[in-house]
Amino acid sequence: MPRYGLVIDLERCIGCHACTVACKAENEIERDSWIQVVMRDGQPRDTARGQFPELTMDYLPLTCMHCQEPPCADACPTAAIYQRDDGVVILDATQCNGCQACLTACPYGVILWDETKEVATKCHLCAHRLEQGLLPFCAWCCEGQAIHFGDLADPQSEVSQLVARRSGYPLKPEERTGPTVHYLPPLPKRPL
Ligand code: SF4
Repeated sequence: MPRYGLVIDLERCIGCHACTVACKAENEIERDSWIQVVMRDGQPRDTARGQFPELTMDYLPLTCMHCQEPPCADACPTAAIYQRDDGVVILDATQCNGCQACLTACPYGVILWDETKEVATKCHLCAHRLEQGLLPFCAWCCEGQAIHFGDLADPQSEVSQLVARRSGYPLKPEERTGPTVHYLPPLPKRPL
């Protein structure tokens, strides 16, 4: 069985927010989007880190990690959240009772609350596009080609090879949720 997920290259992310705009447009999200670009060390937006001339801007695109043991699904009293055989974690908003238990349970803070419809929503890796053999729209639109999509269960896939070659890592492994999304660390900078 495949295990679909994203591998996000932090060397290539330039913080352009093309992914957030793509997500919002593709999924018709009224407010925010299911992928957010934040600063890696919690700095205010677009603020450089370090001392001149050694300054860096460290962006971190954040979205649902499509956990193998999703605590959001465990917390949902109406079984509105479930994991497909291909690893994609789906939140069926039509089954959401608005209790917001999943928002509390997710260690990554990536579930949105739709104030108009009073339901929780989140990334489904553009499941409607996957059915057509297309990439998730964030990956397709990423200006820096930082977002890769593929099968993490296949050791020969591009995403698995990237993780192996670049020491890819998941966020918050201590939460033991088995995140499928992995990050590639920035490359060491050349001395000035
Ligand atoms: Fe659920 Fe959060 Fe894991 Fe996504 S990242 S599967 S919303 S617990």
